[in-house]
Amino acid sequence: MHPLNTPGYLSSTRRTKIVATLGPASDKPQVIDELIRAGVDVVRLNFSHGKAADHQHRADMVREAARKQGRFIAILGDLQGPKIRIDRFKTGKIELVDGASFVLDADMDRDSGDETAVGITYKALVTDSRPEDVLLLDDGRIVLQVEAVVGNQIRTRVIVGGELSNNKGINRQGGGLSAPAITEKDREDIKTASLIGVDYIAVSFPRTGEDIHEARRLLQEAGCTAHIVAKIERAEAIESIREIIEASDAIMIARGDLGVEIGDAELPAVQKAFIRMARDMNRPVITATQMMETMITNPIPTRAEVFDVANAVLDGTDAVMLSAETAAGKHPVRVVETMARICHRAEYQIEAKRGQPPLDIPFERIDQAIAYSAIYTANHLSVAAIVALTESGATPLWMSRVNTDIPIYAFTRSEVAARRVALYRGVQAVHFPYSSTDHAEVNRLVLETLTQMERLDEGDIVIITKGDLMGEMGGTNAMKIVRVGDIISAE
Ligand code: PGA
Ligand code: MN
Repeated sequence: MHPLNTPGYLSSTRRTKIVATLGPASDKPQVIDELIRAGVDVVRLNFSHGKAADHQHRADMVREAARKQGRFIAILGDLQGPKIRIDRFKTGKIELVDGASFVLDADMDRDSGDETAVGITYKALVTDSRPEDVLLLDDGRIVLQVEAVVGNQIRTRVIVGGELSNNKGINRQGGGLSAPAITEKDREDIKTASLIGVDYIAVSFPRTGEDIHEARRLLQEAGCTAHIVAKIERAEAIESIREIIEASDAIMIARGDLGVEIGDAELPAVQKAFIRMARDMNRPVITATQMMETMITNPIPTRAEVFDVANAVLDGTDAVMLSAETAAGKHPVRVVETMARICHRAEYQIEAKRGQPPLDIPFERIDQAIAYSAIYTANHLSVAAIVALTESGATPLWMSRVNTDIPIYAFTRSEVAARRVALYRGVQAVHFPYSSTDHAEVNRLVLETLTQMERLDEGDIVIITKGDLMGEMGGTNAMKIVRVGDIISAE
């Protein structure tokens, strides 16, 4: 049989993680329960919409469903950031005709837009705009060219018209808007996110590493230990990508806004390069936006969407994200099932190509040296599972940067770490509320746990990494190779 036709992947567990945005379409406990059952690993609370109480309520429902199903689901709070928007129209929406003139007016009342002019939320857009600039509204559907800036008015010509409704976003082609990454609203939302106790917080529109450092300071002030996801969605972020990745804990290829700023044709190259870079720099990466867009209304995806999801998996992404598909679409559960199926099949094509850790870089830490040694050994020996006993999730993160088809289990007594690894490709959390200095006893317990979970058979080889002082962060300094049966029967 041709290797690609073997059904082997059916018996393995999906490695690519699914992030689903919650919203009106998924606001019932039953839908959330089904979303998690269908394969959601991380839920996104989008702070661009809804009130603090809505997000708290959604987080409560997620935790309840996760508890009932015995799953560790991470919560990602996504800050709105300096998304620039038009204000509202008297009639809710208008029709812009190609070639017409249209004014963005910083002095206009918020609700009084019409066919000739509309207000804007970000008043400094006026000073940031120059004649000849191209402004893209509603994710690029409407194109305006600036003709003149007079007082607080940006006078434009409609290049591509169409329907324009309230509060649609504005991007400038090529980027270059001065808005700082963290707004007043974001500062408030950071407090809400901290109260909710989110596991990840996404910073929207960062320009530099400094924007991420500032977010981290604000999180610390709020007493929040969430890890930071930098959303790459601004032209400037491309320039400073290394320092942004360095400053953050994970990145998101936010293809919606990014595509508008740098042009859609640039996106595939950027996605591939940045997934590679994030993995090389030991960061998880989420690929986001319009992955299953037509399933907002249709019960099946287009072939192009099937390929998009599969290609992101082949590019090496840790996670794929759903936005309106699960937040406002007609088939929130079905879209997750479909995405899970596509990811799982695509992995089978690539994970069999086992990779190696970087061979010619100096290691910086002992736990890193152990993590790489373990994954190197696993990929060269017939191993059924890798188990990282971990306090912070750092060891399984390093392991999961290397291509492998072997499951990586993060055994941890920390529920924070168990939820955090929900984003890491190929890593599954197992709650292990146990610490002992008796290493043989711990090895036995690990094998027993996985055997009970029906993940191991007699004779299987397992690699276990841990520290002398189990339960210490960054304390991993040992790797054991054990065989099921030898240890359990030796008891
Ligand atoms: P958003 O971010 O959904 O918050 O806009 C993702 C993107 O821009 O792609
Ligand atoms: Mn965005």
